[in-house]
Order: sequence, then structure tokens, then C-alpha cells
Amino acid sequence: MGFAPRATIDQAALRHNLRRVRQAAPGQPLWAVIKANGYGHGMATVARALEAADGFAVARIEEALRLRGLGVEKPLLVLEGVSDAADLEQARQAGCELVLHQPGQLELLESSGSGSPVRVWLKVDTGMHRLGFRPAEVADLAELLAACPAVSELNLMTHLANADDPADPMTAEQCARFAQLNTTPFSRRSIANSAGLLGHPESRRGWLRPGIMLYGVSPFAESTAAAEGLRPVMHFSARVIAVNRCAAGERVGYGGRYTCPESMPVAVVGVGYGDGYPRHAGDGTPLLIRGQRLPLAGRVSMDMLCVDARRLPDLRVGEEVTLWGDGLPVEEIARAAGTIAYELLCGITGRVEFVPVDREEAAHGPGG
Ligand SMILES: *Cc1c(COP(=O)(O)O)cnc(C)c1O
Repeated sequence: MGFAPRATIDQAALRHNLRRVRQAAPGQPLWAVIKANGYGHGMATVARALEAADGFAVARIEEALRLRGLGVEKPLLVLEGVSDAADLEQARQAGCELVLHQPGQLELLESSGSGSPVRVWLKVDTGMHRLGFRPAEVADLAELLAACPAVSELNLMTHLANADDPADPMTAEQCARFAQLNTTPFSRRSIANSAGLLGHPESRRGWLRPGIMLYGVSPFAESTAAAEGLRPVMHFSARVIAVNRCAAGERVGYGGRYTCPESMPVAVVGVGYGDGYPRHAGDGTPLLIRGQRLPLAGRVSMDMLCVDARRLPDLRVGEEVTLWGDGLPVEEIARAAGTIAYELLCGITGRVEFVPVDREEAAHGPGG
């Protein structure tokens, strides 16, 4: 396997985090959200580990078809629905449930035949102003859809815009607007993402749609995964490929952003933005070697980055470096790079070797 960067994906942690969802909202069915290649963890691995979910949600029809190709027989929800007749036909053949969020999608359904009708989730915009129909349009749309032979079941959903901030009144307003749409008899309803279901009891109704928490990341800026009872799933690591001795005043890497304050060891790690390590990480961003935090020194390159190794003067080529994972939360690296954990996890590239593991529960002690 050499010195190439690796991402281990802990299936036991995925199962643990799913149990955490069940514990937060007992008795509620859920779509495990595994879009964007399972938030960068590998869709096949994630789908296998989360087989106790009631169904899987993905953004696009291509992702749903890939899951069917992998032999996944569970209910699948396509969060963006379909945009042409060919995709609609494929979705029907594959038995996918479809979100319907704009008029063109309604026309597609109405102009298609009645063979293998689909379950539809009408999306209402309760305040995010991204996808969905206005609340005032819902009753008329529901009537049209109920009469449409291509539709076998009609459901209602919305998406929360600010649930990651527990103090923001927007979430309660969105839930109240959604609750008012109770005059039409929808079969099922769905509101909550991870932040909703952990932080806003009023959103914990009907089908839950957790994503980020399944991967062991807190959806709240102000709390940690551990505080939410979640276990990180991805451990991203690389190796030291060179250790240099630099003199005081020498500058390291492109643009010479980092200047050595004294004669010191500088280690070169074989990982860069070409693997998904964020180029915007500043000097001082921590990397973990032998359990010690060492600061990033200089700009991240495509295939390499450098660290100030003064804390480990005997550091050797080949030693393992944790980029994020055990002992170094991805949330912390995201903050150092001015982004969110979602983006870092999704951004691991195809050059990184993925290794599914199943770590003993006992190694983590109690914790739900
Ligand atoms: C991505 C997504 C989710 C999951 O959100 P998390 O914040 O990752 O829990 C739920 N619903 C919709 C519509 C989404 O697009």
C-alpha cells in the first residue's frame, strides 16, 4: 500500500450513529441521506453499514440507479426529483420515490403513462427559498397530483434552513408553516435533517432525513460530535515522505508563506489538495503524529504539505500522520480552513485509498 494517503471508514461507527438517531427520535422512520458518495465515505460501504435504515435518500437519479446497481433493494428517495421523461422512466423502473419541487416536474408526471406509478414527495418551501412550492400552492397541487394516474402515493416534505443554530427562531416558524398544511391528507410527511432532529423537537415528526450526524459530525457549530454522542466514521491519514533540516530565516513551500524562526526539522507529508486536504488551511493548522499536534507550515501543495516538526526531533520517513479522525476532529480542521466538515468529507478525491474497517465497540467504551 506504500505511502499513499488513506481514509478508513468505520462501519461500527456508522451503525452507532444510526442508533443515536433512533434514540433521539424513537419510533420515527428515517431516510439515511447518502448523497455525494455517502458524504465522501463511499456509497457502497455506507449503504451496507446502514442497512437498518428504512430507506436511503440521494440528491440525483444517477445516485439512486447506482445504488440499485449495487443490489440495494430498499426504498430510495431522489431529493431533487427528475427533470426529463427518460429519467422519470428510469426512476419508475427502479422504483424510486421522487421529490416534486417545480412545475415542470408536475407536467412530466401528467404527460407520462400510468404504468408503474411513483410515490411522490411534494416539496413545500417554508422559508429556505431554495427548492419547493409556496405553501399557498400546496392544496391545489395536491388535488392535481391525487388525480394523476402516474402517482401512487402523495407525501409532503420541507427542508430547514437554519436548524444548525438552536437559537434561531426560523426553525420554529418553518415547522409551524408546515404544520398548517394539515388540511390535505398526505400519506407521509418529512421535515428534519440532522440539526433539526437533534435540536428541534417540533421537527422530529414523520420521516427523518439525517445526513451529517450519521458520519459522526455534529451539525452544530457550538458543539462537538462527542457531546452529541456521535462517533467519527472517517480517519484520514498520510505518511511522512521526507524530513528536512531548515535554517533560521529559510522559507518553506510555494510563495514562502512560512519562515523558519530557528534551525528546525520540517517534515514533508505526502498529502495535498489533490487528495482533498484543504488548500485554505492556514499555518498552525494541527496535524497529529504519534499523538502530538504539529502545526502546518506553509501553503498546502497538490501532493504534499509541510509541518513544523520541532516537537518530534526524531521524526522518521514513513511515520503515520493523522489529517483528521481519531484525536483530531474534522470540525477543527474545517474551522482552520474556513469551511465546514461537510465540504472536507465530500472533497476526498479518487486518488485516496478507502479502507472499510469494523472497529470493536469495546474500544470506545460506553457512550450510547
Ligand atoms: C442533504 C440533505 C439532508 C441531510 O442534511 P444533514 O444536514 O446532512 O443532516 C436532508 N434533507 C435534504 C433535502 C438534504 O438535501
